[in-house]
Amino acid sequence: MLFKEIIGQQEVKGKLLSLVREDRTPHAMMLFGPEGTGKLALAVAMTQYLACNDRQEDDACGVCPSCIKFGKLVHPDLHFVVPVLKTGSMTAPPVSDDYAVEWREALLTDLYLTESQWYESLGAENKQGIINVKESENIIRKLAFKPYESDYRMVVIWLPEKMNQPAANKLLKLIEEPPEKTLILMVSEHTNKILPTILSRTQLFHVPPISGADLREGLMKLGQADQQQIEDAVLRANGNMSTALQTLRQDDVERQHFELFTELMRLSYARDIVQINGWVERVAGMGRERQKQVIDYSLRLLRENFILNMENDSLNYMSAKESEFSRKFSPFIHEGNVHALAETFTLAGNHIEANGNARIILMDLSIRVIRLLMQKATAAN
Ligand SMILES: [Zn+2]
Repeated sequence: MLFKEIIGQQEVKGKLLSLVREDRTPHAMMLFGPEGTGKLALAVAMTQYLACNDRQEDDACGVCPSCIKFGKLVHPDLHFVVPVLKTGSMTAPPVSDDYAVEWREALLTDLYLTESQWYESLGAENKQGIINVKESENIIRKLAFKPYESDYRMVVIWLPEKMNQPAANKLLKLIEEPPEKTLILMVSEHTNKILPTILSRTQLFHVPPISGADLREGLMKLGQADQQQIEDAVLRANGNMSTALQTLRQDDVERQHFELFTELMRLSYARDIVQINGWVERVAGMGRERQKQVIDYSLRLLRENFILNMENDSLNYMSAKESEFSRKFSPFIHEGNVHALAETFTLAGNHIEANGNARIILMDLSIRVIRLLMQKATAAN
């Protein structure tokens, strides 16, 4: 992981780089601050810089044998301690090494990995991980060996606030009497939950929220969203890259739903059975969960259009794109058909959930929509 892959944070980067360049790397340090700022990536970039065989002025070289191993997070002198939890049929208390493969994959996929995303990737959402005493014993054992390939043995402890008391006590002893040429690099979001005695023996570096300008530039480089979406994401993110990325992903899914819904309405109005058949095929191939989401989205937009038609603008919750479409579409959703339409979509959703044949359910839904859209506003009930 290279410093240049991490968005913004020039000040922190400068401090970390000079520690290594001036050979002042402390044996225990902590990067702390809110979620989504790149703390964890900065910590890993620092260890890579420390071990690089051909250090540049402001980053590791990225191509030496050491950097190649760091790029895959498999360097033998780099260790990770992260909160974990029992999954599957596990009986013994788990340690980070049990999830080494999953951890590497999760972090390499997303430098801004959050705690909840980590648990989710283990298939254990809504659960809390911990760092237990066995983990601290493992660190002590690992640091007792000589470094294999670099000058340092390095442990990155992600979220040390997740240590239970016995684990924290063992870590404290290690920090009090550190073996030579070791770097214990902690990455914390809640320093108030860490033993004060650990904090007082640790060099602290605050990692602030990413600035709006840096966030904007970083999102633009990804090239997956337009200007307006990026501005929305920056506004909502509050300096948190994770939130920004999630906002963009969410936007993407909503946009697909919007397109599917408007397409179905257009084709139904035109009574274009051939094209409708194509639509049905596409949605039927998307998987049950997504089909349910399309139905739920459709129900929401139908409701919004009915409200818009009733000219009660104050109740409207639509994006710019949805509003634009709805100005033309809302006259077709009225008291004469709104209940039947809602019922039709709800029923389709229930049938999909009950594992019915998606093709038949969606085709049936489309035929009913054609008929209901033809009903005149005056023909109420
Ligand atoms: Zn290198």
